[in-house]
Amino acid sequence: MSSGAAVSLRGVTKRFGAVTAVAGVDLDIAEGEFFSMLGPSGSGKTTMLRLIAGFELPTAGTVLLKGRDVTRLPPFDRDVNTVFQDYALFPHMSVAQNIAYGLRVRRVAKEERNRRVDEALASVRLDEFGSRRPHQLSGGQRQRVALARALVNRPAVLLLDEPLGALDLKLREEMQVELKAIQQQVGITFIFVTHDQQEALTMSDRIAVFADGRIEQVGTPTEIYERPMTQFVAGFVGTSNVLQPAVARALVGRDAIATIRPEHIRIVAVGAEPDADEMHTIATVRDVQYLGAFVRVRAETDEGARLVVDVPSFTGVGADVALGRRCTLAWSSRYVRAVGQSSSTNTGGEE
Ligand code: ADP
Ligand code: MG
Repeated sequence: MSSGAAVSLRGVTKRFGAVTAVAGVDLDIAEGEFFSMLGPSGSGKTTMLRLIAGFELPTAGTVLLKGRDVTRLPPFDRDVNTVFQDYALFPHMSVAQNIAYGLRVRRVAKEERNRRVDEALASVRLDEFGSRRPHQLSGGQRQRVALARALVNRPAVLLLDEPLGALDLKLREEMQVELKAIQQQVGITFIFVTHDQQEALTMSDRIAVFADGRIEQVGTPTEIYERPMTQFVAGFVGTSNVLQPAVARALVGRDAIATIRPEHIRIVAVGAEPDADEMHTIATVRDVQYLGAFVRVRAETDEGARLVVDVPSFTGVGADVALGRRCTLAWSSRYVRAVGQSSSTNTGGEE
């Protein structure tokens, strides 16, 4: 598979003294893919990017770019560029000079340089900003300059390490849409690192979920969200009810760890019955949180399980979910997923 892949990792491990930052990663990232590495702080994402870029040498394993072994090559011999979270723009240079920098270093002739800088500025919608200095730009604009500075080199692969982390929520959401659009327009393989599951789900063609230097699961956003294969993925991506085997046996008739999403459980209206094909249980409402689009209810079942249930606000749950109320919770068995404890004891996400 490595021949068609933009990036292939084979058994890549990186140790810093006693710390194993990356622990035997195998992965193929296709050309033109928007690929995200998602995981909590310390899970090895930045180290993984630095290994691909060549800023770190692996303790073991092989890094291939388009099937070529680059494990021992320095960063400038790899057709890869990195966009860092802090942008790292030169403050004394104009925007255009910042973007032209990589081309100057590689002695690209002035005429072509200017043309490519204009192209790069246009691709991030900053046509009019070439003569400004970085401090005369907003955070979002600086981020786009950093992106243009990498794109102008036309790398085969662009590595982005939490590039939107410094932006406030609204701007970050706008940039997510924009970044994805830019990636589709330029057709370059993007490897995007984030700890934000929403961001990864929104932008990616595929996601690798990292925990403790290992990949827990690789899949499309839909696969990761709807068919988490491990307890970690179920808990880290979105909110999930994780039922330990004893509870799972009582509640869903499974002898394994099982998960069910809060939006897949419903509260049966008082006086009504669960549908014939639904599983159900009796619970007591312990907490009610109004979250705008939905109401998040925490309920304790008579089996002793605590379940989170998301009720769409428009259904007007009202008095049915007052604190201390007894209610019937119902769900379809097709939303129950058996999961492994971690990748090493993975039992698979399918029923
Ligand atoms: P992430 O980007 O997912 O937050 P990192 O790749 O930065 O994770 O770090 C993974 C682990 O490796 C952490 O435990 C971190 O402390 C350790 N680590 C990273 N870089 C170094 C280094 N240069 N020296 C020692 N330990 C490091
Ligand atoms: Mg990091």
